[in-house]
Amino acid sequence: MNFTLSESDILLRRTVRDFAVKELEPAARERDAKEEFSWPLYRKMGKLGITGLGIAPERDGSGGLLQTAIAVEELARSDPSMALSLLASLSLASHGIEHHAGDALKNRYLPPIARGEKIAAFGFTEPEAGSDAAGVQMLASKKNGKYLLNGRKIFITNGDIANTFLVFATTDRAKRHKGMLAFIVERGSKGLSTHKQTEKMGMRASSTAEVLFDDCEVPAGNLVGEEGQGFTIAMEIVDGSRPIIGAQATGIAQGSLDLAMRHVRQRKQFGQAVADFQGVQWMLADMATKIDAARLLVYRAASMRDQGLSSTKESAMAKLFASETAMQVATQALQLHGGSGYFKESPIERFFRDAKVTEIYEGTSQIQRLVIARRLLAEAAAQR
Ligand SMILES: Cc1cc2nc3c(=O)[nH]c(=O)nc-3n(C[C@H](O)[C@H](O)[C@H](O)COP(=O)(O)OP(=O)(O)OC[C@H]3O[C@@H](n4cnc5c(N)ncnc54)[C@H](O)[C@@H]3O)c2cc1C
Repeated sequence: MNFTLSESDILLRRTVRDFAVKELEPAARERDAKEEFSWPLYRKMGKLGITGLGIAPERDGSGGLLQTAIAVEELARSDPSMALSLLASLSLASHGIEHHAGDALKNRYLPPIARGEKIAAFGFTEPEAGSDAAGVQMLASKKNGKYLLNGRKIFITNGDIANTFLVFATTDRAKRHKGMLAFIVERGSKGLSTHKQTEKMGMRASSTAEVLFDDCEVPAGNLVGEEGQGFTIAMEIVDGSRPIIGAQATGIAQGSLDLAMRHVRQRKQFGQAVADFQGVQWMLADMATKIDAARLLVYRAASMRDQGLSSTKESAMAKLFASETAMQVATQALQLHGGSGYFKESPIERFFRDAKVTEIYEGTSQIQRLVIARRLLAEAAAQR
């Protein structure tokens, strides 16, 4: 595989980098402290064309998953929360709609999301359905040409700001994954309410909410795919989105290394820059090597998806390695800041908090290892 980026991809990276440094970095700490998502900044991202990456050009989008990964990494390098708001709207909800909904739904819901005028959310997790994805309890029952949804989603990124929700329910809890189905639900639907969940450790400038469905009416035409296909659709979506969480984690790791590099070159101890100590140089070398490896795993998985290849194992590997790299590199980078890294004045404190959740959402590291091992064993059995 060739991982040399094209001229246009290099330009995309540079454009998003410039935007992130000029527009996102200056008030990232303030938004983190206030737990505040910024619509004005998100709309600027829309003008830049990055809120529609991976959505078809006829629906005002452009590019594919590799371009989504490049943009998300560069955003996360400055502001991981904003990268999360974008990726939840794009690689979870919108790419799911783009790949699995009919033309009428796609043409209706995706263009304003692609232009950054609206934002989407992916509603899967419930109190009883986290790692056990087939345990979804939210009930969907059909009545007079409509579905009535009853249930509760938790930890939903963009939940209290989204206009469009891609949500998962079941017609029969006992059927588990075979009973599931997916819907597009609009904000303003009767019986839908959202409640912001606050006081997160990290990613505080991204919004997280509970989404409640109380006899929520959804037109039958808003069913995505067919009854019984919901679980397969959800798993297909996470295969595409895990490399993008990997890209976000790579950005967090790179942003942490950038900060560490700046600090160790400026800080003097024992009459020399801290960067001149060999013990410190070895730490920097390990950090940079892991980041490059994470980025390459992300590019491989994203490129496979763009070529229409199955990437379940490769997507899980990219997410697993990149998220653990983010946590390790952020920890080392904070260490290299000494005491000054322990105060909120230093952005490394925010990166350290932001890194943790990449090992948790879209499947914990334990779940990624299960996915990888199951594929390995299936491949071995097939070769026998
Ligand atoms: C900030 C944030 C944003 C989120 N955004 C979204 C979103 O937009 N949409 C959405 O649907 N969800 C979202 N989530 C939910 C997230 O995907 C889940 O939290 C995650 O999948 C883990 O589920 P859980 O929290 O129920 O943990 P649990 O499943 O209860 O896991 C608890 C522990 O048990 C371990 N464990 C569970 N099963 C196994 C097993 N079989 N083998 C080994 N270990 C196991 C886990 O690895 C973990 O360590 C978000 C979560 C957070 C924190």
